[in-house]
Amino acid sequence: MSEERSLNFIEEIVEEDIRTGKHGGRVLTRFPPEPNGYLHIGHAKSICLNFGLAKKYNGTTNLRFDDTNPVTEDTEYVESIKEDVNWLGFEWAEELYTSDYFDQLYQFAITLINKGLAYVDDSSSEEIAKGKGTPTQPGTPNIFRSRSIEENLTLFEEMKSGKYADGEKVLRAKIDLASPNMHMRDPIIYRIKHAHHHRTGNKWCIYPMYDFAHGQSDAIEKITHSVCTLEFIPHRELYNWLIDMLEIFPSKQYEFARLNMSYTVMSKRKLMQLVNNAFVAGWDDPRMPTISGLRRRGFTPASIRNFCDRIGIAKRENVIDFSLLEFFIREDLNKTSWRRMAVLDPIKMVITNFLENEIEWLEGENNPEAEGGEGSRKVPFTKELWIEREDFMEEPPKKFFRLGPGLMCRLKFAYIVRCDDFVKDEHGNVTEIHCTYFPDSKSGSDTSGLKAKGTMHWVSVPHAKTAEVRLYDRLFKAEAPDAEEGDFKDYINPESLVVVENAYIEPDLSHAAQQLADFPDRRYQFIRKGYFCLDKDSTAEKLVFNRTVTLKDGWSK
Ligand code: ATP
Ligand code: MG
Repeated sequence: MSEERSLNFIEEIVEEDIRTGKHGGRVLTRFPPEPNGYLHIGHAKSICLNFGLAKKYNGTTNLRFDDTNPVTEDTEYVESIKEDVNWLGFEWAEELYTSDYFDQLYQFAITLINKGLAYVDDSSSEEIAKGKGTPTQPGTPNIFRSRSIEENLTLFEEMKSGKYADGEKVLRAKIDLASPNMHMRDPIIYRIKHAHHHRTGNKWCIYPMYDFAHGQSDAIEKITHSVCTLEFIPHRELYNWLIDMLEIFPSKQYEFARLNMSYTVMSKRKLMQLVNNAFVAGWDDPRMPTISGLRRRGFTPASIRNFCDRIGIAKRENVIDFSLLEFFIREDLNKTSWRRMAVLDPIKMVITNFLENEIEWLEGENNPEAEGGEGSRKVPFTKELWIEREDFMEEPPKKFFRLGPGLMCRLKFAYIVRCDDFVKDEHGNVTEIHCTYFPDSKSGSDTSGLKAKGTMHWVSVPHAKTAEVRLYDRLFKAEAPDAEEGDFKDYINPESLVVVENAYIEPDLSHAAQQLADFPDRRYQFIRKGYFCLDKDSTAEKLVFNRTVTLKDGWSK
């Protein structure tokens, strides 16, 4: 979808800034994840926006790990975030860490103290909250607010050197306890936390709060446009105040609506619960809305970028249907995937007039939709074939264009067959169907004059290989699991994963693992069954395929 679209409001701002020569026309954005979990599709929106803006306006983007919370952060997450951003197709100018600025941020705090704009407060968090008042009532200053600059400098130094326990003291900005914006009522900017940090080790026992770290990091890096989600609107005043008081680079914050999607949850904290409680097989479980999950499921970077482009940038919250994302992956895979045949729920077909032991090698197109074609492979046709159980009905209704007694259907790449008879076991289950084939009805050179409205996929019995096939559905049965009563985990869809242990695949697919090594992006359409990719659980003995998406949207009906 590359149709022309009008500028979004952030692009308008950037273009205006370039026009007026602000920052010499320079554009530098940043993507600032906290390394406390894996990235999800919501982050993809932020990544596409930040990197997309820079790309469009000849700028660059920094990848900044916002690692100010030592307790929840880990290098595993750092590595996964880098992999995901790269995989989405973006390159950052610099890999940076807020923790690299701890010395500088500490100096900024001292500057504020020296200007009489920060003080050490000994109150408990309850007392501080109480002293802030309510949105309709101004807060009240406590005795610590009037501490001298010298005393504040000494106490802050002692906080840093480890003299106090967690929570014993905090550093607060001295702004306005009567401000209509609660964030301006002397916000906490440093807290004591005796904890090991994944990068700075045990060097620090005080850590800057988000509001003190984020804007100052933007200024240190000279970020021109700092884009974040709407919940930070009330933080903007503080962002600007700190930059003004510290007289540092005037980065500016702009807010857009976060991406919310139906039938899933989108917060690292909640996704972590799914992982830790084994509701899913890991962060990259193909049902997860994480970038690694979508990748494992078979989504392509282009499909995610196109999706983000299409949903656009808004100033108001909304919920996007999961099927829109599926639309973009279908569009992509239709053009790029190789057609193959696999039977997921098999029943045997015997072609009574085909010679025993005879093998006819048919030509099977790899992808008729691909530009310039993608070649073909040989498909063996024999007397016994596996077909899909649902393609046969003992008593077919009108307009059933597959097989039933007396009905004709075309076998893909092969011949028209007519069903003459079928066999049942003692439980009344159909175990075998018997057909006649018409030798002059071969695909591409059909002179039979016969008409078959349907086409079926099939796999030659003696050539068939087995594979495990995993079919996925929505992870939640509720449209908005977050909004439901009780815990969001109560709304997990028990049928979100269906495993077909022994599907029959055509012999060419048994080389999938090797093909994948040569073409890691290779995707397959199993004719009529959907788009599939090889899962990392595959071994030489056993291939495992994930269904990325069905061929048609079965949900929006
Ligand atoms: P989560 O609640 O999932 O942990 P977060 O906002 O705390 O998300 P961060 O690592 O702080 O995660 O986010 C990095 C960047 O990604 C931020 O700029 C944030 O605004 C953006 N972001 C996070 N979630 C979304 C979303 N759903 N839609 C758009 N942008 C998002
Ligand atoms: Mg966060």
